[in-house]
Amino acid sequence: MLKFCTLFSGSSGNSAFIGNDTAKLLVDAGVTAKSIEHELALIDEDPRDIDVVLITHEHIDHVRGAGVLARRYGMKIAVNRRTWYAMAAEVGKVDPAQLIFTDELNGSLTVGGLEIVPFPISHDAADPVGYSISDRRHKITVATDTGYLSPALHDYCSGSSAVLIEANHDLDMLEHGPYPKSLIARIRGKRGHMCNALCGEFAAELAESGTRAIIIGHLSNENNLPELAYETVRRTMEEAGVRVVDHGDVIPPDFFSRSDSDGVNGATVPQTGLVVAPRYSHSKVILL
Ligand SMILES: [Zn+2]
Ligand SMILES: [Zn+2]
Repeated sequence: MLKFCTLFSGSSGNSAFIGNDTAKLLVDAGVTAKSIEHELALIDEDPRDIDVVLITHEHIDHVRGAGVLARRYGMKIAVNRRTWYAMAAEVGKVDPAQLIFTDELNGSLTVGGLEIVPFPISHDAADPVGYSISDRRHKITVATDTGYLSPALHDYCSGSSAVLIEANHDLDMLEHGPYPKSLIARIRGKRGHMCNALCGEFAAELAESGTRAIIIGHLSNENNLPELAYETVRRTMEEAGVRVVDHGDVIPPDFFSRSDSDGVNGATVPQTGLVVAPRYSHSKVILL
């Protein structure tokens, strides 16, 4: 069984956990090692069991704790070369034997029973990527920090049972907020961040294609609110005919094997769980 949740999410730091009996991974380590240790304990995971930290890009909110974790627990760091060169000074010395350069692989990396596929995303970093992780039964895709819905993003996210995508800002709050015009242009640009409305459109498409759990994350502290992000995405999904289902603290595994319920006139209605990733603590745990 695959277990998936975010540990931290937002411009203050990002990290997500994905694991099963054969392998345990972090996607990014953008807060201190101590914070990650603490949050892992809350989901009954031990940092000594983490095999690899997958790095999406070199921004500090994605790499802050990666060096300390590698030195303290011997975790490997999977990263492409351009990103590594851009982050190396920030994370400090890491034993070269612990580095896996993903651009030297044949498109994918296998750790235990998990197959990991990096793919390009559109963001203002050296060589930013998202990751699809599969145990052959289910695929989970993590793709935040992306300015627009590129064809690659569509391709790699489609067919995922669960995804972490970005609802960075509310466009109105961004336009009328405290940021200077140049920064607003950067965030709104193709290599910036995705707004709530676009996230909603993407979430609706994914739900229609069979994605059953959607975590929306990387919310801006200044230009978004969790309730606003949730409502915008939920409304867009429901307008597209998706039934958004609420769960308790955990989205149960049988949710992923249930068939869609019959809607009006016998048409099936896609059902999808929608979760907002908290900034400073772990999200609902998804078991699939
Ligand atoms: Zn970034
Ligand atoms: Zn970021």
